[in-house]
Amino acid sequence: MARKMLQFTRLDQRTPDKRSAGTRRVDFDEIYGRFTPDAAGDQASRCEQCGIPFCQIHCPLQNNIPDWLMLTAAGRLEEAYALSSATNSMPEICGRICPQDRLCEGSCVLEQSRHGAVTIGAVEKFITDTAWERGWVKPILPLREREQSVGIIGGGPAGMAAAEQLRAQGYQVTLYDRYDRIGGLLVYGIPGFKLEKSVVERRVDLLARSGVIFKTNFEVGRDASLPELRKTHDAVLIATGVYKARGLSIPGAGLRGVTKALDYLIASNRTGLGDRVPAFEDGTLDAKDKAVVVIGGGDTAMDCLRTAIRQGARSVKCLYRRDRANMPGSQREVINAVEEGVDFVWLTAPEAVLGDERATGVRAHRMHLGVADATGRQSPQPIAGSEFTLEADLVIEALGFEPEDLPAVFGEPRLPITRWGTIQIDPVSKMSGLDGVFAAGDIVRGASLVVWAVRDGRDAAEGIRRYLVAKAAAAPAKAAP
Ligand code: SF4
Repeated sequence: MARKMLQFTRLDQRTPDKRSAGTRRVDFDEIYGRFTPDAAGDQASRCEQCGIPFCQIHCPLQNNIPDWLMLTAAGRLEEAYALSSATNSMPEICGRICPQDRLCEGSCVLEQSRHGAVTIGAVEKFITDTAWERGWVKPILPLREREQSVGIIGGGPAGMAAAEQLRAQGYQVTLYDRYDRIGGLLVYGIPGFKLEKSVVERRVDLLARSGVIFKTNFEVGRDASLPELRKTHDAVLIATGVYKARGLSIPGAGLRGVTKALDYLIASNRTGLGDRVPAFEDGTLDAKDKAVVVIGGGDTAMDCLRTAIRQGARSVKCLYRRDRANMPGSQREVINAVEEGVDFVWLTAPEAVLGDERATGVRAHRMHLGVADATGRQSPQPIAGSEFTLEADLVIEALGFEPEDLPAVFGEPRLPITRWGTIQIDPVSKMSGLDGVFAAGDIVRGASLVVWAVRDGRDAAEGIRRYLVAKAAAAPAKAAP
């Protein structure tokens, strides 16, 4: 059914149904339902078709949102999918986990004019899920196979996006990952209630059917050094992400019962996938019946909090040193967490983890927001005499991630890194200071969003393509038979 656009004056903003907090607290299934075709078309038709579309400008992938909304409103879903997948290697994943309230929907003029943003993420998810079901998502069949090969280190979103783009150009692609599944944080970091694992698996399977070779349980530095991979491939892309967790440096941080966010999430996700996880089975990384305190205010902290709820924790509290308006995580996630029973303790910083061998509590103090620093953010200051104690037998540190020492790990001391430990690359070519070695994603920009990793992976693939074209052109022509 073709619809007129600009229906925001007639139609209110609607989101897909959300399961009630009571039902979603007990399982790891996704919490949002899906639009019906009519609802998706109606919601898409609310778009104003802006001449300067701020939604698109503020999308890291510059997705052509107004046009695929218009096609959805017109019922032309296959074309909508073709357009959306032209700029995005995994639109159904971005539709589920992007913080749209901070990106496209937060920038939508309808949000700014208080009509309520077009529900872009939910429409994107609808279009792509429909495309999968109707068989419009097909393995890549390159027009021409090329002999040159690319080794990609890291099977997360940046590596997957680069692999897709390079296969489309006909290059031979091998994806190396240290874990036993491809997907990186999409599989092991992000909980199923935000992104069901089957959604990632079908993307991974599509890459396999497109001819990408996977080498899992492969650690660069143990199974091959970076110099060895450079000899094996015509180009190498480093897309490892950043996995080294920042820890607490307060008394008691080493007690049993204090754990890193990623260890906790990986154990939960592996258990959900049916893997045996001894540290979960013996209760170390299981929040059941425990008083849980999560320290941090980003999306990883939200994931831990909501996982603990589902594991049956006795209480779940979030300690964050700023207030709700100044937290880095998505507001939508905070709302979901509150609905599910998480207790947020804003403007609070931990002082010590209490206990003898095992954590029994967290001593914390109140903060207030002082003057803005050079970045414009108000810096939190402790309030003297405001100390108090919270019960805690599982303390989860969700304080962000840092790069590992890759030159040492990869056995390549000449790999150039920045003072933050990220890999230094040329901003245009995406190549590092080592010829033919590229980098993309969090290992370049620091811990960031999946959608930025997809963008970086695609950009790096283009840099690699140009490099390989130039390399092939410079190679001596094969002698005629
Ligand atoms: Fe449509 Fe909002 Fe984007 Fe404007 S900003 S084109 S109304 S989705």
